[in-house]
Amino acid sequence: MFKEAVYDGFQRTVSETLLFNRSVLEVLAKTHEATARLNRAVIKSVTGCGCLKISAGKKEIPPGATLADLRQLLGSHLEGEICEDCREVVESAIGRSLFYLAALCNLLNLSLKDIMEKEQKYMRILGIYNLA
Ligand SMILES: [Zn+2]
Repeated sequence: MFKEAVYDGFQRTVSETLLFNRSVLEVLAKTHEATARLNRAVIKSVTGCGCLKISAGKKEIPPGATLADLRQLLGSHLEGEICEDCREVVESAIGRSLFYLAALCNLLNLSLKDIMEKEQKYMRILGIYNLA
């Protein structure tokens, strides 16, 4: 399903390059920190750069709307397009998050590829009833 060489290769490279933060406590802390940096990068694209705007309000869902209708009715609250500078920062932050997720998988002897395949299978089975 997933390209084994890419995902297993990524996880193997993380294992080979992770030297100083091999403790599960350090990896858990770094995973949290990476997620916080990712959130900050997205927020800075709104508050620092301004390429994105957040426009949020109460969602009005008409009576009789089905779960399938919700995809059209529920938006992202985002307006605009992420600029190249912000894209680079956000992509870097996502990469660091993936790095520490792979590191956690290594410590727990889990396969990131297997987890992604299971999650994708679960999403396909549940479809819109996944409610994610
Ligand atoms: Zn920007």
